[in-house]
Amino acid sequence: EAKKQGGGSVHHYTPELGRRGIRRLELEQQLRIALEQNQLTLNYQPQVDLRTGAMIGVEALARWQHPETGAISPSEFIPVAEESGIIIPLGEWVLNRACEDAMRWRQHGVPLEVAVNVSAVEFEHVDIASRVSQALSRTHLPVEALVLELTESVLMDDTEEAIRRLQTLREMGVRIAVDDFGSGYSNLSYLKRLPLNKLKIDQSLIRGLGKHANDEALVRAVIQLAHSLKLDTLAEGVETETTRQFLHQHHCRHAQGYLFGRAQPAEHFLSIH
Ligand code: C2E
Ligand code: MG
Ligand code: MG
Ligand code: MG
Repeated sequence: EAKKQGGGSVHHYTPELGRRGIRRLELEQQLRIALEQNQLTLNYQPQVDLRTGAMIGVEALARWQHPETGAISPSEFIPVAEESGIIIPLGEWVLNRACEDAMRWRQHGVPLEVAVNVSAVEFEHVDIASRVSQALSRTHLPVEALVLELTESVLMDDTEEAIRRLQTLREMGVRIAVDDFGSGYSNLSYLKRLPLNKLKIDQSLIRGLGKHANDEALVRAVIQLAHSLKLDTLAEGVETETTRQFLHQHHCRHAQGYLFGRAQPAEHFLSIH
């Protein structure tokens, strides 16, 4: 750990680093237990069509209610899961649970599509296509109902192996969304090479709408880029009516954010018609 931080020797060990290291190790152990003891749950956040206002789908978001310390945020435990490899069984649990819940909604006449986050570590180490086909055949969920969200870091590593994996998913009919698009510096050439369906415009760009002219220009450009590549657009982190109107006026198709609703337990969607 000291080496990874750039120290390269035990002399750089500090009490601060030590405490962080211990916290991480504790979290890792507790996360293993959490997975075994069903302390993890999935909540679902609405995704709406900006033209009609209708809910078209939901994004599955992992939640961890720790019995002693309370809720732990995914931005804290997902990185721990990735570094420790726990993301492999955790991701499988997420995919299966999301497909089960989506199938249950369908059986109640609520045909929402479900978007599942797949981390770079999972994509690299697991045969996602066969994991997806197992989950679909186990739950009987139609493939049209499933979207996988991948971040740019996965897509920029466009090795032949990664491209083959994405093509297999495409041939199966699984749709792929690029998560957090515009959150980092990126070489955009992967957009034309890979079989993608949707760009999710990162919250950091959406938050500046109405405040920074540059962000408005960027968001407009991203929407145009997506449409000229025949990709769907979804704006993340929409919190205000002004933002909703801006996005609608600039032909962004879909949106997600606190304005439309926070992530809710699966049962919440059973009664929606
Ligand atoms: P993400 O995939 O980009 O998910 C969107 C995040 O933005 C969620 O945070 C959501 O609650 C939050 N959000 C949605 N609307 C708004 C809004 O209007 N304002 C603000 N301020 N935030 C909003 P959450 O649930 O804390 O998840 C954080 C990240 O953790 C996710 O980012 C995703 O990268 C990761 N994550 C969550 N669940 C999973 C999972 O099951 N598997 C994997 N691999 N990653 C997950
Ligand atoms: Mg996501
Ligand atoms: Mg995102
Ligand atoms: Mg994110």
